[in-house]
Amino acid sequence: MGDLAGLFAAEDQAPGSSLDAVWDSYQRARSSGAEPFDAAIRVASSVDRLGLAFAAGYSAALERLIPDVILPCALCVTEADGNHPRAIKASLKASGSDYVLDGAKTFVTFGSMAKTLIVAARVGVHSDGRPELAVVRIPADRDGVSLKELPPISFVPEIPHARVEFNDVQVQDGERLNGDGYLDYVKPFRTVEDIHVFATASAYLLGLSKRCAGPAEWMSELCAAIVTLDRLGAVPPSDPGVHVALHGVTQNLSRLFSTEAFTEVLQGAPPEERARWERDRKLLQVANTARDARFRKAASQLGLC
Ligand SMILES: Cc1cc2nc3c(=O)[nH]c(=O)nc-3n(C[C@H](O)[C@H](O)[C@H](O)COP(=O)(O)OP(=O)(O)OC[C@H]3O[C@@H](n4cnc5c(N)ncnc54)[C@H](O)[C@@H]3O)c2cc1C
Repeated sequence: MGDLAGLFAAEDQAPGSSLDAVWDSYQRARSSGAEPFDAAIRVASSVDRLGLAFAAGYSAALERLIPDVILPCALCVTEADGNHPRAIKASLKASGSDYVLDGAKTFVTFGSMAKTLIVAARVGVHSDGRPELAVVRIPADRDGVSLKELPPISFVPEIPHARVEFNDVQVQDGERLNGDGYLDYVKPFRTVEDIHVFATASAYLLGLSKRCAGPAEWMSELCAAIVTLDRLGAVPPSDPGVHVALHGVTQNLSRLFSTEAFTEVLQGAPPEERARWERDRKLLQVANTARDARFRKAASQLGLC
């Protein structure tokens, strides 16, 4: 990040409270030359709820992994049986020089707002029996794509989500992304998303603390988390050190949430914003099991346990 002082600058506007405000200010920041991480931090530090900070972080993570995506965009992996490669039944079959996509996904982030869908599908089987996945990028309004908006989830309800079906969807050869769908996209995205979403969650809490004149010590810890996560975003997600450091950051953030300083910040927050935080904080636990497993594996690879 170039400008750390900017994180602490006074805001002259009320915090953003809608997804439209997030897209507008994210695109404005990107057009002014900010990198995805910096743009997302800028946006998240001036919103009034965690869900909107998530929207900025998720979008920046996708831009980091797949340059030139058209936002809002969703990575569609999860199916009825989960998101493990074995659970992926959606199929991509060759048809002349192009492909045909069939199947269904159960969680399209941003629902029918998403303009682009990045879809993981099975193309075959590796020699060791593991499913071979490919990832394609298609416009959400392509013939054969049908989205069905689902009821809001119990936390971050502002983020719409949908189920999607693909029936005989034509995919051009150039829409299949290079590389292995699992190793190059699905697997690293978990880490890249964690880095960006924990960073934007920290930026949201920093913005809230500024608005509530929270303790400087507490804000300095959030700033340290953001700077560390920025650094982690520049390291390949396959590096075991990333998972060990990410674990350190998330553990420290969990500790910060139970400090007296944070209670003080929340007491100074508008009551409806405090209630939203209590409702939405569960977001930071999504994928805890996967994160813990990666930390343990990385720590063992590095001889730490
Ligand atoms: C906010 C959010 C964003 C997601 N984004 C994507 C995405 O971009 N692409 C994709 O392919 N999949 C996405 N998923 C689906 C997710 O990857 C799968 O549901 C996965 O199985 C969650 O497992 P977990 O171990 O992370 O969650 P768990 O630890 O099992 O659950 C953590 C909390 O999240 C809730 N939760 C988990 N999954 C869902 C769900 N599907 N619907 C409602 N609540 C749920 C649980 O009730 C629990 O409170 C998302 C899910 C959530 C909740």
